[in-house]
Amino acid sequence: MSVYLDYNASAPIDIRVLDAMVNVYKNNYGNADSRTHDFGDQARKIVENARKQVASLLGVHSDEVFFTSGATESNNIAIQGLRKYAEKTGKKHIISTGIEHHSVLNTIHALSDEGYDVELINPDKSGRIDARQVLDKVREDTLLVSVMHVNNETGIIQPVNEIGDALTNKNVIFHVDATQSCGKLVEEVRSLKYDILACSAHKLMGPQGVGALVLRKKNYVLPPVSPLTYGGQQEKGIRPGTIPVALVAGFGKACELAAEEHTNNQIICKKIKNSILSNLDHSGVIYFINGDQQFCVDSAINICFKDVSSEALMMSTKQYCGISNGSACTSKDYSPSYVLRAMGLSDDEALSSVRLSWGNNTNLPDVIDGFGMLLATVKNFQD
Ligand code: PMP
Repeated sequence: MSVYLDYNASAPIDIRVLDAMVNVYKNNYGNADSRTHDFGDQARKIVENARKQVASLLGVHSDEVFFTSGATESNNIAIQGLRKYAEKTGKKHIISTGIEHHSVLNTIHALSDEGYDVELINPDKSGRIDARQVLDKVREDTLLVSVMHVNNETGIIQPVNEIGDALTNKNVIFHVDATQSCGKLVEEVRSLKYDILACSAHKLMGPQGVGALVLRKKNYVLPPVSPLTYGGQQEKGIRPGTIPVALVAGFGKACELAAEEHTNNQIICKKIKNSILSNLDHSGVIYFINGDQQFCVDSAINICFKDVSSEALMMSTKQYCGISNGSACTSKDYSPSYVLRAMGLSDDEALSSVRLSWGNNTNLPDVIDGFGMLLATVKNFQD
């Protein structure tokens, strides 16, 4: 039996979420925007209840939550959706980091190709960017600052609280990709100051294919985001198209569960991390951990095993544990992780690094077995 340790790529759906979705698929097949019958009314109620559940987890108002197909779409709307505003105001300077997910980085690169002035900040070996470096770059014509909350490859928490506080009274849009922190760092996300936030249900044990774009109102006005696609008036025209009621209901349920259970989930995740750290410590393998662990979430770790090809390691241990060496979105690519390279690792070090990530329903004895086999394989490679 292989233990699944790739929750940062996608977490398994919580059975209670699945039950809620099956119930909707069976009983509430109406279109949430149909106004002419009860089937539509029921579907609409389900969607609005889910919106409240998402809003409550994030600590925002439900009319600030817009459902999308996931964080990739949310990030695209958040960034590309500012084009019209940028044209109107002439503000075309963007500050972001070199460790963002590709749904942010490639979107920003596309704007750079159109003439936007883009500056990317890299972290040091700690994996954490320096908030001051970001803030020092802010200019009169800065349109957007975009910084992720938790990095998907390293689990390192970025200083978005500090950046958000400093930008509060500045005329700059602050976007946070919180895909890896929503449902995990619940209180932290609630207390963040930002204009736009993105998240995806499947990272918090909800279904794949649904997420949210959060647009925070300032003086009752939404950030100046225009839609990327045109259609009906769903999601106030920001994201037109029939709302997938069951997916949205599952997302809402996952948020409700995360809000209720996150303290306990964190304890479980911490236990697993401690066990991994202690096994590493006693294994006799040569390794270092990527990123300063005082800034890391309890549910992930990125380890460099000296002189061990991560590809060879993953192939040799496939039957014991499912791990990865970077974002699933780039896993067809054998080049070294751009996140680890941005932190100053050499190509060889980056190519010898693997990511493990887990959740509250990960079974500790299975982790001990699977990770034990992984360490034994590393030892063989290194001997
Ligand atoms: N941002 C981050 C930090 C992520 O980890 C991911 C998923 N790997 C995304 C955005 C994109 O999410 P999705 O694939 O659900 O659109």
